[in-house]
Amino acid sequence: MFENPCVRCIIAVAKWFPVIFISAVVGWSYYAYVVELCILEVKSGVERGFYLFFFHIFFILFVWSYWQTIFTNSDVVPLKFKLSPQQVSQLDSTTTSKDYESGKRLLDAFGKDLPVATRGFNGDLRYCDKCKIIKPDRCHHCSVCERCILKMDHHCPWVNNCVCFNNYKFFILFLGYAMAYCLYISLTDLQYFIKFWQDKLSGDGGGKFHILFLFFVSTMFAVSVLTLLSYHCYLVFSNQSTLESHRPPVFTGGPDKNGFNLGRYQNFREIFGDKPALWFIPIFTSKGDGMEFPATSVRNLLKADRNGHNGRVNESFTRSHGSGLSFPVRTVDDDRDDLLQRPFNWNQVPAFPAMPSVRVENEQNLI
Ligand SMILES: [Zn+2]
Ligand SMILES: [Zn+2]
Repeated sequence: MFENPCVRCIIAVAKWFPVIFISAVVGWSYYAYVVELCILEVKSGVERGFYLFFFHIFFILFVWSYWQTIFTNSDVVPLKFKLSPQQVSQLDSTTTSKDYESGKRLLDAFGKDLPVATRGFNGDLRYCDKCKIIKPDRCHHCSVCERCILKMDHHCPWVNNCVCFNNYKFFILFLGYAMAYCLYISLTDLQYFIKFWQDKLSGDGGGKFHILFLFFVSTMFAVSVLTLLSYHCYLVFSNQSTLESHRPPVFTGGPDKNGFNLGRYQNFREIFGDKPALWFIPIFTSKGDGMEFPATSVRNLLKADRNGHNGRVNESFTRSHGSGLSFPVRTVDDDRDDLLQRPFNWNQVPAFPAMPSVRVENEQNLI
């Protein structure tokens, strides 16, 4: 994006500011809760022990999942998706409509054995003209990370990382434990918060205000995180990424917001794994490799297409329709689903005819 090394260095440092801010707030909350509240204010030894024991459980799980979200990066897209330099130069020279057709044939031939079910807006294989790869399913190019990210959800400045296949479980746990941490602090601090206004706290002025602000800050963060956590719980149980909730993935049969929906329980297990004992521990247990995802009825449509239905809509297939094609303004996702550098108009009519709105499968069968 920026070629000047100094500018790139400054931007790289600036990207860590939100992480430093969160870390500073967490560090202060630790001091305020442990020292100012539990050690200097709470008089009962039993109460103090109870507060500190559960506080440290939430604190450790919260910091652990936050760390994992920050420092777990997306796997690199394998070489089998990458075009050779000769193929890239051939594609780069495709400026006329005739060349476009030959370029399209080149990509179709290259991608015919790749495990790719999704398509671009125009029905072609999705090609990243920056990374020079055929994009695996649910993979998108992040303009902040400057590379293609497996099952990209969004780029999160608060963790200075892409939330993606490799760290999505950590991100959900981070939100969950952040809310638990903040709620626990605000609930246990509540009676001392009330005592502050009754002027019954025993500490001096500084200590009192730590207890006061601890309640305000923890309550404010708990409410904020609850909103985001609720939205991501919806995404987990419907097997959508944030990007897909705005723009349904496109299959050979057309856009389908339920294209990866296996039912709530299976969707949950796809991210949290098969071992319940590890579900809420911030270690990687997600299923799959981030490139291939379990079949749905729409994928069966693709497989049928590969067996001779020519990749076009067949009204006899059962499928569901996307929730709408009014695409929002893109922010950090610099994704180009378009092949061969043709100009892309986000308001253009999709290349697929209107489809009947039918659920993928019976909902009871999915759960
Ligand atoms: Zn890319
Ligand atoms: Zn990113």
